[in-house]
Amino acid sequence: MSQQDDIEYQLDTLAIRTGHTRSFEGEHGEPIFLTSSFVYENAAEAAAKFSGAEPGNIYSRFTNPTVAMFEKRLAALDGGERCVATSSGMAAIMAVAMSFLKTGDHVICSRAVFGSTVSLFEKYVSKFGVAVDFVDLTDINAWKNAIRPETKLLFVESPSNPLSEIADVQALSDLAHKNDALLAIDNSFCTPALQQPLKLGADLVVYSATKYLDGQGRALGGAVVGSDKLLEEVFGYVRTAGPSMSPFNAWVFLKGLETLKLRMNAHSASAQKIAEWLQTHDKIEKVYFAGLKDHVGHELAAKQQKGFGGIVSFEVIGGRDSAWKVIDNTKFISITGNLGDVKSTITHPATTTHGKLSPEAKEAAGIREGLIRLSVGLEDADDIIRDLSHGLDLV
Ligand SMILES: *Cc1c(COP(=O)(O)O)cnc(C)c1O
Repeated sequence: MSQQDDIEYQLDTLAIRTGHTRSFEGEHGEPIFLTSSFVYENAAEAAAKFSGAEPGNIYSRFTNPTVAMFEKRLAALDGGERCVATSSGMAAIMAVAMSFLKTGDHVICSRAVFGSTVSLFEKYVSKFGVAVDFVDLTDINAWKNAIRPETKLLFVESPSNPLSEIADVQALSDLAHKNDALLAIDNSFCTPALQQPLKLGADLVVYSATKYLDGQGRALGGAVVGSDKLLEEVFGYVRTAGPSMSPFNAWVFLKGLETLKLRMNAHSASAQKIAEWLQTHDKIEKVYFAGLKDHVGHELAAKQQKGFGGIVSFEVIGGRDSAWKVIDNTKFISITGNLGDVKSTITHPATTTHGKLSPEAKEAAGIREGLIRLSVGLEDADDIIRDLSHGLDLV
């Protein structure tokens, strides 16, 4: 579709058609511009490009056509004005912190976020005199009580990892805006195919593109999406500090976005089937999946998401021994910390992703020894069920 086109396209069309302006070669597939810099006809053109008087490519730390295609496409899927791509999901979160926080500011972060996000705020961002408090993401009063005059950013991941807790994005957005703070959502688990946080009132959406945006476990990347005004700040930080996405990775993610909705719907359908099967299993104590009617966040998730996603966590009776038995007796499910892949992956959070937490912190976060996190891939759902059964039958 042409850049002048003012028709409002649906997400499926945007995912395939946005961002690519054909070069003079007339290529059909999106080209990979593996070049660090760009050349000019003469010194005057170089001067105009460098001063910003003329738009155009300068240097791939901040202007690369393949990366720009990915940014335009992801921004369109999220309904955002602009996107800035980064080298990883953590780099995207760091870019938000460096762009919008300064010494003396305060951040409120949901407790159940990606482990490195906790370390980033606690160990590194705090070095610059930024205070952070962690609160229960489902308890809006805890967020209200944590607000201070210096609060500048509310950061939340919903659904949470690994227990699929759901935050009320609209309520958090109201709270943030009443206090002149920004609301940032880590939307890596849902992707814009299942949840569009900007439309629920969030100011910034961050991604680990490494997960579902790629979807096939190949490349590391991240992104921040939001308004032109806010993203100009993020762009300034990324162009200066340099946590930029590689053009090759951008091309991988562009291809990932084309099939994103199909994959997310398929992940969600299989996860639903597996969660319902686990719920009836006599060796299972509890299943954590927002698609189940008795999950505390079910109604909220049904309201703010278009699907429940592909992550299912469950607690096996008998603690660590049983959980490890289930994991070790799978035949094809990969034992790995990554998620959002076409390949199903299985993890024991208490000894891996959340292994550094104290026993008290684990208990507070609901990370028990019998807990297993499954990222449901696109293999046949009945085969996945059979693969989990090998170990469950031995418990
Ligand atoms: C993986 C992940 C991150 C970090 O992303 P990287 O690409 O590994 O740097 C951040 N948030 C969530 C929810 C994740 O799953």
